[in-house]
Amino acid sequence: MNGKRLNLRSVAIATLAACALATTGLAIAQSRTDVHRDAATRNVGNDPFMMEYARAFYCNLADDNNQIVLNSRGWNYPARSGSDPAYRIPKTQIFDDVWFVGNHYVGQYLIKAPGGLVQVDSGNNAAEVEAYNYPAMLTLGLSASYPLKGMFITHGHGDHDGGAKWLKDNLNPEIFLGSADNVSNTKSYVPTPIDSTDLSLRQMSIGGKSFWILPTPGHTAGSTSAVVEVMDHGKPVRVLINGGQSMSASSIPAVSDYLDSIERTYVAVKALNVEGVMTPHIYWDGEGQKIREILANGRTKPSQHVYGHESVVRQMVIARECSAAWLSRLDATTVLPVWRYNTIEFVGAPTPTNTRVKVQNGWGPLSNQKVKLSVAQTGASCTATTDANGMASCAVHPLRPHKDRLVATFEGSESADFVDLPAETSAMVCSNGNCKSK
Ligand SMILES: [Zn+2]
Repeated sequence: MNGKRLNLRSVAIATLAACALATTGLAIAQSRTDVHRDAATRNVGNDPFMMEYARAFYCNLADDNNQIVLNSRGWNYPARSGSDPAYRIPKTQIFDDVWFVGNHYVGQYLIKAPGGLVQVDSGNNAAEVEAYNYPAMLTLGLSASYPLKGMFITHGHGDHDGGAKWLKDNLNPEIFLGSADNVSNTKSYVPTPIDSTDLSLRQMSIGGKSFWILPTPGHTAGSTSAVVEVMDHGKPVRVLINGGQSMSASSIPAVSDYLDSIERTYVAVKALNVEGVMTPHIYWDGEGQKIREILANGRTKPSQHVYGHESVVRQMVIARECSAAWLSRLDATTVLPVWRYNTIEFVGAPTPTNTRVKVQNGWGPLSNQKVKLSVAQTGASCTATTDANGMASCAVHPLRPHKDRLVATFEGSESADFVDLPAETSAMVCSNGNCKSK
């Protein structure tokens, strides 16, 4: 990451004047909202999990599936006053070094770092962290020589930092919070500020654990997302902690910030090759479903929480379209191009005489686009242009069966209406009649 930003807003502004002349602002807002909601659905790619847990949640507005969010919020309140197991989820190991503690609405993640424990978010209140988080920490080795060293708070709402004071007073971790969520120093604990005005992705040590920090204002001004590397069956996996997800703000600047934050999160998860998700509100992103699967059947290899890089990227593209729908609803002057999630696939296994690929998205095949085929081992490459069926092919020399891995790349493109996102795939080259899949 070197501050590279997608150039999207300029396209929007360019098309604005013409549209504003054509019809009333209200009619534009309605139609643009529907365009982006439809785009979110098309970007799902027929994946029921993504439909249920990404499209439904990121696109929820009062007139679109809002009940799923309202229902889920209901889980939180009994937990504030009691320990009814119907509302609590047992402490659940999701990676080699990460445990979930929480209820069906909101949870915390305990990370075992070499020098001590690090916790993401802090529970609803003192009683809750004393009753659940503290005992969980003891089972994970909390002691004078293995303390709770740090806490990362995604944002300053009470369901995320309500237990911070108790933990600070009793266990004295260093607590990190986005500076814009404590501008008047009104918190009951003294946080170490993360500069919310610096929107760059950067690394920061929290309790001795390295976090890639990305301020993502919108849900609150100080909302902060992060990527952490955890271990899954001995293998490192990078996981997104999406800070401040729900579209609760209703001011145009806040929603505009939210959209910008989602776009930057997309760039970050691409750059860091993120493969998993750890969401504090587990009813988003299918986290709760993954935890239920772990509790019922044990942790799979790889863990249920490894969503796969393409799924995490697709989730952010859906979220972007939902956010664009939301901003279009609030601001009739907003006209944004639609983001399209693209795939590129080999048509039949690649051989020295077959290098056909197909580029497509939820709208159909993508024609007249440049595709590059290359082999890292030899440096050989060629470029081709997709036809009306999204197909392209060109000859790569040399192309050695069972030795070369052929990489197909679509670099993406932009028009006034669409941002077509880049896509890549690769496969081992095989000989005709002797091909195994990938
Ligand atoms: Zn919140």
